[in-house]
Amino acid sequence: MIRLVFIGIFICFSSIIAQTHNFDVHKISAEITPNLENESVSGELSFSFNTSQDTDSIFLDAKNMAAQIMGSDIKVSLNISEDKLWFVGDFEVDETYNINFSYQAQPKQTLYFVGFEDDAKTNDQVFTQGQGKYTSHWLPSIDDMNDKIEFDLSIIVPKFYGALANGKLIEQWKENDSLSRWTYDMKKPMSSYLVAISVGDYKREIQQSNSGVDLHQYLLKKDSLYLEPTYRHTKQIFDYLENKIGVDYPWQNYKQVPVRDFLYAGMENTSLTIFSDAFVVDSIGYFDRNYVNVNAHELAHQWFGNLITETESKHHWLHEGFATYYALLAERQIFGDNYFYHKLYQYAESLKSASDNGKGEKLLKPNASSLTYYQKGAWALFMLNQIVGEDVFDRAVQIFLNKYAFQNVTTDDFMNEVKALTNVDLSDFEQQWFKQSAFQAEQALEALETSLFIPEYFELIAKRPLDISKKIGAIETAFDFPINIYIAQEAVSQLASEPANDEVIQLYQSAFNTGNLWVRQAISESLTEIPLALKSAYETLLQDQSYQTRENAFLHLWMNFPKDRKRYLNQMQNQDGFRDKNLKQLWLTLNLATPDFQADKTTQTYQELAQYTSPKYRFQIREHAFGYLYQIDAFSDQVLINLLDGCFHHTWRFRDFCRQLLKTLLKNPTYQSQINNLKPKLNDKALTYLNKIQ
Ligand SMILES: [Zn+2]
Repeated sequence: MIRLVFIGIFICFSSIIAQTHNFDVHKISAEITPNLENESVSGELSFSFNTSQDTDSIFLDAKNMAAQIMGSDIKVSLNISEDKLWFVGDFEVDETYNINFSYQAQPKQTLYFVGFEDDAKTNDQVFTQGQGKYTSHWLPSIDDMNDKIEFDLSIIVPKFYGALANGKLIEQWKENDSLSRWTYDMKKPMSSYLVAISVGDYKREIQQSNSGVDLHQYLLKKDSLYLEPTYRHTKQIFDYLENKIGVDYPWQNYKQVPVRDFLYAGMENTSLTIFSDAFVVDSIGYFDRNYVNVNAHELAHQWFGNLITETESKHHWLHEGFATYYALLAERQIFGDNYFYHKLYQYAESLKSASDNGKGEKLLKPNASSLTYYQKGAWALFMLNQIVGEDVFDRAVQIFLNKYAFQNVTTDDFMNEVKALTNVDLSDFEQQWFKQSAFQAEQALEALETSLFIPEYFELIAKRPLDISKKIGAIETAFDFPINIYIAQEAVSQLASEPANDEVIQLYQSAFNTGNLWVRQAISESLTEIPLALKSAYETLLQDQSYQTRENAFLHLWMNFPKDRKRYLNQMQNQDGFRDKNLKQLWLTLNLATPDFQADKTTQTYQELAQYTSPKYRFQIREHAFGYLYQIDAFSDQVLINLLDGCFHHTWRFRDFCRQLLKTLLKNPTYQSQINNLKPKLNDKALTYLNKIQ
């Protein structure tokens, strides 16, 4: 599965309602002012529409908004309900009308303000997440993705910040001494869930694609040094995808911006991808947590999802299956064939396991899981490609996109273009890959064996149950140059269950000596009881160019060799690691668990670890800190207050983590009374929640 261990999943789409209204909105122009002090938004909006029949009312979706008419070319009055603004008037068929109004909202979701807990304005960010959350929480629009609208947004922000929106920046204007206005223009229509803004103290670098499209790469100014590793391969990915898809990139430019505490890995807002700042890496971090896959995935959506859009959720694989498959194709250019086939194999394993457990789903099932839309969708496309051949497949995709550009589509619309180009009977394919819940594992494995390396890989996997004496040659060969990292990693994992006799030690030595970072990382993960004979080799892992390997090695060495703990702590001091400070936090934790080391500073060390639970930090840092403090069983009052704060975080995964941890702590009588003693210090929300769960 494509699971991003530290983030979770790409966004999964929730249900939609088929278009039922009798009017068509063409254009929305809005001037938006996010209020940074109280996390509200106000704006002035004008929109144009026509109706398919005479009618006395039309609406815009608008959740919990106040609004006032400012002008219109026909007499209208406004009725406001909880989720709509109703415009009442005498609207005649085929006439085009314009209405102008102002609005205010205090969005409960979809518009997020982060980094305002500290004094540094350089950390502040505002961003939106439309899909599954609904743009109508901050911008009156049409939630139904079948109504495609041209959106032109202006954003007014304090002068210190920059503002991004869909389309091209056409004017940057100083509103007054303290505010500036950023005006963006779109030329083409899109569904409302793809509208986005982001505000922050950004630095920008522009590259140009081979076709002349501007590729804007944004980053908070304070993170400038991370720009190159974070965006590595961006131009290569863009040029490859535009060429492979065979249809010009449909929008005026392509902007990408990482934001703190994002809800998913990335979101493909039209011409403005927003992604999690967990992918902001230095050159070492790039090795374990690079943005390449998400980068390619969100870019592919600019065609699959944004240019053509599903009519309803049962066709959601037309977005996610295509984005997953084309991202893999782009990665194949960067990381090679073995990477490509290994990834497909991993997808197949997840799909087979779900299917074997009775959790298989039809690809065309409405509201299916992301495993189905993403991985099964990608597999269906890989198989279709095998069956009809790459030429037919590529041409069909090109015709499909051109024919339905800026429209909504179904699976049949795509398959009809494939069928028009081939004599191959595709009824079996459609039956097996679209309509069956079970995953076609045998077909899939057969298709994978067309790769050169997969049969060899399977051969080694088949040796898992064998005694070491019967596979020693195969494992030895796996560490010979040139290394195939997947085969070598498999060999390392098979060694982990063996007793550490001379033969096994010798094999591990060979694995260390490959010097391959992936192979060495596999050792750091699976060899947790370190034989004395491998101690010095293992210690060299502390210097590998991988923060993950260093973390694994640091922990395992500290556990295995108590007499050397001080030495390891000295060696690993002053390293942060990833941006979630994995090495720093492990160091603080192990320091606290090593009483004779810097004993006089214990309090300060604790304070340093404890402060990482504060809302001032991104949720990944906080989650690590809570986890470590749980392991050493040391929650101060302030940490518990911070934990209660986390129970209301907008990122559901972190929120659930905090809630689960709080419930666990409440089962411990000591913590239960400590938590209850904090009640006078809690705000109403936290107090109500606490009373509810116990
Ligand atoms: Zn996606």
